[in-house]
Amino acid sequence: MPEGFEQRLKGLPVSPGIAVGKLRVEARGCSAPPIRNITPAEMDAEWERFSIALNRTEGELSQLKKRVGLTSGPEEAAIFDAHLLFLRDPIITTRMHQEFPKRMHNIEAVYYAVVQNFIEMMSRVDDPYLRSRVIDIRDVLQRVLKNMDPATLPTSANSSAETCILAAYELTPSDTADLNTNQVLGFVTEAGSAVSHTAILARSLGLPAVVAVPNLVVDSRAGSPAILDGYNGLLILNPTEETLEQYRSLRAERDKAYSEYKAMRDLPAITRDGHRIRLAANVEFVHEFDSITQSGAEGVGLFRTEFFLLGNGGGVPDEEAQYEHYRKLVEACAPHEVIFRTLDSGGDKLPYEDLDTKEDNPFLGWRGIRVSLSRPEMFKDQLCAILRASAHGKVGVMFPMVSGITEVRASLELLEECRAELRERGEEFDPHMRVGVMIEVPSAAMIADILAKHVDFFSIGTNDLTQYTIAVDRVNHRVAGMFRPTHPGVVRLMHRAMHAGVPTAICGEMGGDISLVPLLVGLGAAEISVGTHLLPLVRHAIRSLSYEECRTMAQQALQAEDSTTIRELSRQLALRAYPQLF
Ligand code: PEP
Ligand code: MG
Repeated sequence: MPEGFEQRLKGLPVSPGIAVGKLRVEARGCSAPPIRNITPAEMDAEWERFSIALNRTEGELSQLKKRVGLTSGPEEAAIFDAHLLFLRDPIITTRMHQEFPKRMHNIEAVYYAVVQNFIEMMSRVDDPYLRSRVIDIRDVLQRVLKNMDPATLPTSANSSAETCILAAYELTPSDTADLNTNQVLGFVTEAGSAVSHTAILARSLGLPAVVAVPNLVVDSRAGSPAILDGYNGLLILNPTEETLEQYRSLRAERDKAYSEYKAMRDLPAITRDGHRIRLAANVEFVHEFDSITQSGAEGVGLFRTEFFLLGNGGGVPDEEAQYEHYRKLVEACAPHEVIFRTLDSGGDKLPYEDLDTKEDNPFLGWRGIRVSLSRPEMFKDQLCAILRASAHGKVGVMFPMVSGITEVRASLELLEECRAELRERGEEFDPHMRVGVMIEVPSAAMIADILAKHVDFFSIGTNDLTQYTIAVDRVNHRVAGMFRPTHPGVVRLMHRAMHAGVPTAICGEMGGDISLVPLLVGLGAAEISVGTHLLPLVRHAIRSLSYEECRTMAQQALQAEDSTTIRELSRQLALRAYPQLF
């Protein structure tokens, strides 16, 4: 591609927003320190340098942890616990004691070799989560090397006073937490995944971010004008005046929508012809609690508890700690309802515990409700904590990845045991707490009428329902083009679930797709739950629509033969109703 021509690089959108600026390109990770032979007489002094560097790094990481804890929340701060543990990892210490006398090189060269070796070993592990933790180890390596010799530090992302879009092979979590958000408008990396801590921190800093862009560092030129589209996962290099204009107005529209939402936050999500939809928020982290009420969400439609339960690296919190955490959320959202989804570990998310054998198909394996039912004590701790939180406001609970009635019966039995235990302990709870299941496995959608006899509501997880219905791995970029929630098979299953006799919510990413809101409303969704940043757009969309028109369009969609036709039917209605959002 000749320089100066518009070029679009595609990656994974992990943090929404649009940044326009000059590109700043960071070299790959940290480079190997120069090797120098040493004499036996120098050995003690080298150990001393190493020990000082470790202590300094420990101090820095503890400071960083404290700062991130204050600005983002305890889950994000806990990212640095893993760094601190690795810093004093006995495997590395033992190897240093073996390798240093053998190699007789300067100690930073030995440390680099030992850690690189460890990284290579980790990179070969099949578990994508463990592989993604390599970045944390590089982060520690980089800091220790810098603390032995500041000259080994790669150019800092903050060193220029100019604003920029940062392009890097990878960014470590501490690089990300250290970014000066007055200068760095957004970032894009060649490595990374949506579950990486870097992505999590980008969202909590409010920085647009795109990861997993192939050949990014080779294709990027420092100083090139660029647009980073954190909604669609695009880095546009050398944008033409037309593209710039398009994005400027897109950004202006998004900004406008946001100010409109501020003005509209107290207005109900109601169609022009009076059909009411509950508009709720999807939440993962404690620092988002404030934004729930600020966004005007009618409570929480999906609280993904796994980030809290498994995110601190120190084991699952006990009932009491969970209760305290859940209570805070319930009180923050009162009088609205908070729906807690019980632990959904496995698949592409954190495992509940290390498995002795690798799972060949983790999405079809030990995931969601299957894990909870095979660890009843852990499950009951969570259910008791949720029940107790229900004494402080309106609470609902739902079970993830349900595939059949047996799992529902077993979960309800455990819930009943928890109620009995709490009564015996004299603990208060709401005896009418709503109980629901997620519809995200096709078999559950097919037997929705049976499930509906046992629960109060459904919530459709469109991410997994699409994955399991079309048999397309939701995190495999090779088949990403096939991931179509408007596939007639998915749409028909959703319709079936919505008409099985209990109110049905949508809590997957499809709910935030502005083109598809008419389809969801027309199919019969009682509730749409989306990330708080998308709420203003969805509220505006619902208020601009006619329910009757949506219903007629949805009937046509149910007869359509392919996903493109269905998307187009919905998009055309959306374009007519709220053209300003496109
Ligand atoms: C879904 O599958 O659509 C969903 C909301 O759950 P998660 O994305 O957490 O699997
Ligand atoms: Mg899911």
